[in-house]
Amino acid sequence: MKKFMLLLMTVFTLFFCHNSFASAPRRGAVCFTFDDYFGNQWLKADSIFKKYDAHATFFIVREITAEKAEVMKKLQAAGHTVGLHTRSHRNADPLPKNWDMDKYIANQIIPQLEACKKYNIKVRSMAYPNNRRTEKTDQALFKYFDYLRAGWGKSKQPIFTPLAELPDKMVLGGGGIGTYYKSDLNKLKELLTEAHKRDALIVFFSHNIKPGARSIHMPTEMLEALLKHARELNMDIVGAEELPALKKARTQK
Ligand SMILES: [Zn+2]
Repeated sequence: MKKFMLLLMTVFTLFFCHNSFASAPRRGAVCFTFDDYFGNQWLKADSIFKKYDAHATFFIVREITAEKAEVMKKLQAAGHTVGLHTRSHRNADPLPKNWDMDKYIANQIIPQLEACKKYNIKVRSMAYPNNRRTEKTDQALFKYFDYLRAGWGKSKQPIFTPLAELPDKMVLGGGGIGTYYKSDLNKLKELLTEAHKRDALIVFFSHNIKPGARSIHMPTEMLEALLKHARELNMDIVGAEELPALKKARTQK
């Protein structure tokens, strides 16, 4: 009997604790984005994202081969967003000599889009090479994409966008993470805390994900510390394609 009561109490505690955790409204959101192509390392990092109920966005550069298409499908199947990062990493601003935006799109965007079609992969986002963009390049590329990732430094994008005010098509201004960007874990945590306070979106970008990574890459330890912090704050940790649902949750009450 005593054992049964104990079991009953445990079940009740689990049920109510779980419920109160689940019903607490999420506040603020973070998009971690990763550029270029590090297929195996990215797939390996999926277990870390899973641990924190998190999704990310991966922007693939150069030819979409059958092998890359497989990785993209696996990332999508795990709930992440995949997007494009141009066929040869050419800047959209300034454009290569004698190019206009039509030429840029034909040369840098269409071949990747056609490959995605061939492999039956839907993409709605791209990241600008070197975060170089202008209003004009945005307008031309919004014909193909809903989300264009740039940087909040160079491209003068706001750091925080209130989730209730997310536009349907938007430039995701991100902050770089890696020793090259002089990332400081405590400062990054403070930015997450601020996004939570404002119920706003904050975006970061990096490249590879591996333990002790330096330069423009994300050290696994830093990623895990940031995911943990965002989870403790009860923020949404989402891929770009999940943003409309977050806005909807805030505007349909
Ligand atoms: Zn890049």
